[in-house]
Amino acid sequence: MPRTHILALDQGTTSSRAIVFDHEGRQVAVSQKEYPQIFPQPGQVEHDPLAIWASQWSTAVDAMGKADLEPQDIAAIGIANQRETTLVWDRDSGKPVYNAIVWQDRRTAGECARLRAEGLDQLFAERTGLRLDPYFSGTKIRWILENVEGARAKADAGKLMFGTVDSWLLWRLTGRTVHATDATNASRTLIYDIHRGDWDDELLGILGIPRSMLPEVKDSSGIFGESQEGIPIAGIAGDQQAALFGQGCFSPGMAKNTYGTGCFMLMNTGWEAVASTNNLLTTVAWRIGGKTEYALEGSVFMGGAVVKWLRDDLQLIRTAEECEQVAATVADSGGLYFVPAFTGLGAPHWDPYARGAVFGMTRGTKRAHFCRAALESIAFQSAELAGCMVKDSGIPLKRLLVDGGAARSDLLMQFQADLLGVEVMRPKEVETTATGAAWLAGLAVGFWTSREELLKHQEAGKEFHPSRPGEDMSRMMDGWNRAVERSKGWADD
Ligand code: ADP
Repeated sequence: MPRTHILALDQGTTSSRAIVFDHEGRQVAVSQKEYPQIFPQPGQVEHDPLAIWASQWSTAVDAMGKADLEPQDIAAIGIANQRETTLVWDRDSGKPVYNAIVWQDRRTAGECARLRAEGLDQLFAERTGLRLDPYFSGTKIRWILENVEGARAKADAGKLMFGTVDSWLLWRLTGRTVHATDATNASRTLIYDIHRGDWDDELLGILGIPRSMLPEVKDSSGIFGESQEGIPIAGIAGDQQAALFGQGCFSPGMAKNTYGTGCFMLMNTGWEAVASTNNLLTTVAWRIGGKTEYALEGSVFMGGAVVKWLRDDLQLIRTAEECEQVAATVADSGGLYFVPAFTGLGAPHWDPYARGAVFGMTRGTKRAHFCRAALESIAFQSAELAGCMVKDSGIPLKRLLVDGGAARSDLLMQFQADLLGVEVMRPKEVETTATGAAWLAGLAVGFWTSREELLKHQEAGKEFHPSRPGEDMSRMMDGWNRAVERSKGWADD
């Protein structure tokens, strides 16, 4: 019997998802499970590695059950994952030595500042395309080695393994036999030379990370190993790169923005690793057939997560959808600006000490203004990224392809189109991350044969056209810029 489907695992920051695709690229079954966020201290975010694994595994079983499929029906598994999140586990027992330190976690801000003070920013930027910010894995690995009892000695003895979430899932799926990652995930670690395509011994030395801990770096589309059920794991990419692939941004100049927990704008720059002069990152888009393609990236740490925060913490709304329903009851935010710098600011500000702030509250401020300002904050931050991207690439933005959970909000998408003054195009299916993972895996096993074939699977959704005067929007952007400046440098270490 031919294998008829592809299983995509999308291990996100707040939930694990499994999606089954058929040969026409249609999603035939979806399963999603949220798992707990751990906040040990302000600015710190952790996940339980076993909760990551358990939630991911159960959604995989559930999705296959819903689609009435057996493992022998699955041609390949593709993995897309929250990036940078850092896990270290014991090679022999397979047990994590500490919780996963999540990409949003700021605990290594001081360490990054020290390395910057030593003048190392340039070296890290040249080799890795990144900057010395706690966002990336490198300083998180070091933190675990230095703060978990016995970890340093074990690491030096070759007994520990590091992995981003993809490696952890791969290791578990293959019955603890394969320790590997793909080039996109490696490119987010601060210890990988994106030009040579290898771990960098000098950077490893600076951060005190033994090479023996590191996974083998492989193509994003290719066989990584086999699951215990006999399914090849044939595609791995960081979630943002997977979304770029799943949006069909195959040629230089094409860009997408994903509105998930954070917002991530990536532009394909082809074979050339374009160094940013506007505080963006240079990153691996994917490596296929041994050849690396690159992207420029702008990352915002709090995107759709502001809506989750309004729902779960402030309890201003009961569901994410309610945010826009409430926001739509007012014509504008009433001068309210909400800077969600809860875990510092990412691109283009890179201030780990910024914290959340609300400006412009008056006696007339209502719940609806808060909801609206929260949604608008997502668009303001994304507009800042777009501005930098245009400057770095020299390519004017003609349209923006969007995806991710919060892209479901029409109000947010319309505001984004108004703010950017370009059309915003949302595909019918906003889960392009899973699509990208499925495509990478399907291409590797010959389930699909070419990128052209994949593009035929794309279904158009809704387009949003700019409808408000440019001067109004630039006035609002000015207000936003003032608010952002005031939120900077608030926290001390
Ligand atoms: P991730 O992969 O980072 O976990 P998702 O792409 O699933 O994120 O997006 C989830 C985020 O999108 C959540 O933070 C949620 O608050 C937000 N979100 C989901 N639906 C909506 C909606 N209809 N309106 C606004 N925000 C939404």
